[in-house]
Amino acid sequence: MTALGCSEVVPRLESHLRGDCSPELILLIDEHLARCPACRRRLAHLKQLSSMIAAWRPSRPPRQLRTEIAEAVSDQLAQAAATAWAERTRLSLRFPAMSAWQRFATWLVIAALVFLGAAIAYRIFFV
Ligand SMILES: [Zn+2]
Repeated sequence: MTALGCSEVVPRLESHLRGDCSPELILLIDEHLARCPACRRRLAHLKQLSSMIAAWRPSRPPRQLRTEIAEAVSDQLAQAAATAWAERTRLSLRFPAMSAWQRFATWLVIAALVFLGAAIAYRIFFV
């Protein structure tokens, strides 16, 4: 086995940290780390970075922001529902003989918008 240089060890430090290296490679890297302070520092930084990433948790947005998003979304959905309602009314006037399927479809769209608004509001405020 030949000793490894920094250029061979540095790209393998992450694998070494994860334990993905072969036993022979682990020995060679450990041997290099024992005599190379620069690679020991690199490994220490990698360990620190890994633990920071592992500890990171996404933060919950502030309540004010969630409220503003919920209001914006519900306004949009209310407008979409009103448009769907107006379109339904317009179609009913223009085509009085709207089929049962068309009536059902328009009600389905309106119900879906209302359900979506409620689901988004629930997700924002209670989950
Ligand atoms: Zn080195």
